[in-house]
Amino acid sequence: MNIERTTISGARGLDRDEPLSFEQDAPGRTGVDLPAAPDAPDRLGGLRRQGGIGLPGLAEPQVVRHFVRLSRMNYAIDYGLYPLGSCTMKHNPRLNERLARLPGIGDVHPMQPQSTTQGVLRLMSELAHWLTELTGMATVAMTPGAGAQGEMCGMMAIRAAHEARGEPRKRVLVPESAHGTNPATAAICGYEVDSIPATADGRVDMAAFEAKLGPDVAGLMLTNPNTCGLFERDIIRIAELIHGVGGYFYCDGANFNAIVGKVRPGDLGIDAMHINLHKTFSTPHGGGGPGSGPVVFSEALAPYAPLPKVVQRDGRYELIEQEDGPRVGRMKGFHGQFGMFVRALAYMQSHGRDGLKQVAEDAVLNANYVMEKLKDLLPPAYPGPCMHEVLVSDRGLDGTGVETMDLAKALIDEGYHPMTVYFPLIVHGAMLIEPTETETRETLDSFIRVMRGLVEQARAGDEAAYFKAAPVMTPRRRLDETLAARKPVLRWVPEAPVAEAAE
Ligand SMILES: *Cc1c(COP(=O)(O)O)cnc(C)c1O
Repeated sequence: MNIERTTISGARGLDRDEPLSFEQDAPGRTGVDLPAAPDAPDRLGGLRRQGGIGLPGLAEPQVVRHFVRLSRMNYAIDYGLYPLGSCTMKHNPRLNERLARLPGIGDVHPMQPQSTTQGVLRLMSELAHWLTELTGMATVAMTPGAGAQGEMCGMMAIRAAHEARGEPRKRVLVPESAHGTNPATAAICGYEVDSIPATADGRVDMAAFEAKLGPDVAGLMLTNPNTCGLFERDIIRIAELIHGVGGYFYCDGANFNAIVGKVRPGDLGIDAMHINLHKTFSTPHGGGGPGSGPVVFSEALAPYAPLPKVVQRDGRYELIEQEDGPRVGRMKGFHGQFGMFVRALAYMQSHGRDGLKQVAEDAVLNANYVMEKLKDLLPPAYPGPCMHEVLVSDRGLDGTGVETMDLAKALIDEGYHPMTVYFPLIVHGAMLIEPTETETRETLDSFIRVMRGLVEQARAGDEAAYFKAAPVMTPRRRLDETLAARKPVLRWVPEAPVAEAAE
């Protein structure tokens, strides 16, 4: 039985479209009744507002429904598998949330006297200790607000170190598989970006790398495991070579989830690396809170790491905010993303060092499981095994007319957030799938069944029109991404002027 039905309301079952709050405006309607203002003398002089502020008039139940309906249109890690490669969309443990909301932690103010914040300073100090221990590095700058700002922090320190020696240098080497933030960071720090090609097995081309080395090279920005989901086997040699020309080694640590507890980046010769607490250490990505990207530094770069830092003196914790020396300036106001520090430390302490090692092993196991179960239909872009994510090209769709984007959009109709698509750029029609360690075997099997089913449908060729139109089950259909990028409309303009809210 296959009955198509267009509903009277336009809704699809419990999914309904939702107008903007401004489109629901009923002038004068309000969620609270405030007593009329007394006829007080105008103490604001001429500054008193003359008209309404143009907010829509809605009753409280309308506001509640508005946001609940919007939230039902959203996809979240709390809803289902989120296999977005390179992003490490793992479960955010509720224990961490609970701790971050404890009174005294949730309510602490950054300008409180330090005598009243000894506990939170200790917490920051302990997290810093875990981060330097797990990475084998000398020190850590806690304040960067996310990975990209961490990269900037690390590259500013590299720049400061060269300038302190009186030789600013010009070029930064970046593999062509790098995340876009790497070349962007190098450029914003005033460097020329020199791209290193990849070999046929998805790793740094050592001959090309060596040929690019020279006395004007400030450093290298490398991701390990790299964005092809592969460990850079030559990493120790890479570190020796970059140090050999007086350059520094920046590692993009976004993929630390694959090696945490197994390998210490400091032992590989890395000089600076950001850690995305919202990836490896399970703190929420956006929405549920800000990111956080502390940067660990080797002995060589430690003198340039930005403040503040927490030190322990005479049994007291102290936040050092100023100090003479060649350090780069502050990256952010106050102490950094403290709420994320609480969650990350709770995560580390609840797992312990052995538990974190298990995290890495299970993340790698899950990715290889997905790779094995898909490889006859979607062969991996590079010979396996992979690390914590599997990269496939669109070879499996050859001749079907269905492209990576179509497959990703069809996944939405199947109830999954798509994998990362068209990244890294060096693989044609790339699909980067990162299941993470927090998914069950059953969830992975369901996802695999759907992926296999979609590829088989594409190959059978009788659903071509569907794939081009997908998604068809969502409140919004396929958007024009080119138009959105070229002509972004960032402001909603009413068709008719919004009524001024009543005074
Ligand atoms: C996520 C990611 C970044 C950027 O980190 P943000 O925290 O999103 O700023 C950089 N490089 C790689 C490889 C990443 O996966």
